[in-house]
Amino acid sequence: MHPLVRIVGAANVELDVRVGDIAVPGVPATLVTPGDAQQVAAVVAWCYGHDVAIVPVGGRSGLAGGGAVLDSDAVALSLERLRTVRSFEPELWRMEVEAGVTTATVARLARENGLLFPPDPGAPEQSQLGGMIATNAGGPHAFKYGVTGDWVTGLEAVLAPGELVRVGGATRKDVAGYDLCALLTGSEGTLGIVTAAWLRLVPAPERRLALAAAYPDAATGCDAVLRVLASGIVPAALEFFDEGAIRATGAAFPHDGGVDGFVILAEADGSHEEAARIRDELHEALGPGATALHAPESERAIWRWRDGVSLTVEAVRGAKLSEDIAVPIDRLAEAIEETIRIGERHDLDACSWGHAGDGNVHATFLLDPGDDAMRTRANAAAQDLFALAIRLGGTITGEHGIGLLKNGQLSSQWESAAVVAHNAIKSALDPKGLLNPGKKVP
Ligand SMILES: Cc1cc2nc3c(=O)[nH]c(=O)nc-3n(C[C@H](O)[C@H](O)[C@H](O)COP(=O)(O)OP(=O)(O)OC[C@H]3O[C@@H](n4cnc5c(N)ncnc54)[C@H](O)[C@@H]3O)c2cc1C
Repeated sequence: MHPLVRIVGAANVELDVRVGDIAVPGVPATLVTPGDAQQVAAVVAWCYGHDVAIVPVGGRSGLAGGGAVLDSDAVALSLERLRTVRSFEPELWRMEVEAGVTTATVARLARENGLLFPPDPGAPEQSQLGGMIATNAGGPHAFKYGVTGDWVTGLEAVLAPGELVRVGGATRKDVAGYDLCALLTGSEGTLGIVTAAWLRLVPAPERRLALAAAYPDAATGCDAVLRVLASGIVPAALEFFDEGAIRATGAAFPHDGGVDGFVILAEADGSHEEAARIRDELHEALGPGATALHAPESERAIWRWRDGVSLTVEAVRGAKLSEDIAVPIDRLAEAIEETIRIGERHDLDACSWGHAGDGNVHATFLLDPGDDAMRTRANAAAQDLFALAIRLGGTITGEHGIGLLKNGQLSSQWESAAVVAHNAIKSALDPKGLLNPGKKVP
């Protein structure tokens, strides 16, 4: 009998299960699914006592290989049974939710009570709150509303060697200690395992209105983005799609005849009057240089189209390598144009789309499935992309995280003293290096 059966029961220990995420399939290992936070702590304590590595597993929608199990001796620790909404007080705009609750469930619960939980990474039915916190996920609405961590006021987590701790809570302000809540957020399961979180919410906007503008090229489109910023308008989302991404997806855009060119998609939200006023202002700011402006009737159809862009682009050749560099917004056009040139240098078709307002570029190289030489060239192109991001004063990852795929790259972005401080934090909180080894920290 596997020793962890004593803690979680036989039904919740599965042997030889391949546990990975979207990017990396992982190797067969032991999958353990505790039923509550105390069981999570007991599993971590057993693993830590027996020098067994632990890989926290959420909805497995990550894109950086962060949740992939690389060693058959490791334990994959799934949070999926921690699905309780411990408290929800709509009138106080807050809830306490366990880590295995899906993003869609949190968002739905808030919406049904007139509230908004804004973070919306692209796989809401699959991703879980714990995974969102561990990656500090963003999404299109991060431009106005911020990333997941901006909505977390407290965490319950298991730290090595198996202690259940609470940092922060329902209070909206707390500067008593070092900000451990922020430290665990975005730590990709390498410092502790999130078992629950206190979330703050806001009243939901009454209305959302979309506006799409097409331009002849990236430079003109990015000038329009800068004009929106300079005008003081605060759109809820400000997305871009370059000409290559639109060639693949523009025909399906929910407007007669689709769209072409370089496209900016903006969303206005607020009260009925406010949303209408902001959309008018966006119309004015986005207008100069635009070849077309569309104000789609159906907000839902627009976001359905937006959610499908990644898969539709992938379908062009059957595979792709996509990165998520982020640059200062005034360097966005350069990042988009240079992505194409990097592709050309490596004999690859390239395109990009992303969160224009955050300077976050999903730079993508199209691949033929199974063509190893092409994949090798794409990996080399990705190195050039990271160098580009750093040269432009940006980051190698704006939202997907370092995971396995970009492990070791931080030292090319940060000065060595900052990397040393980073590694010291890892050693202090995980002295045996058993929490998600091989990820994030080289
Ligand atoms: C189609 C698509 C679109 C996406 N779009 C966006 C986007 O716009 N913006 C964006 O930011 N992201 C996006 N993502 C990726 C996004 O990061 C993930 O969807 C989500 O944040 C991860 O949640 P998960 O539960 O699936 O985590 P997993 O993939 O299971 O895990 C992710 C990481 O978190 C760790 N982890 C998981 N649960 C815990 C826990 N409870 N405690 C500690 N560590 C844990 C894992 O070990 C791993 O390192 C997209 C993904 C897809 C598939």
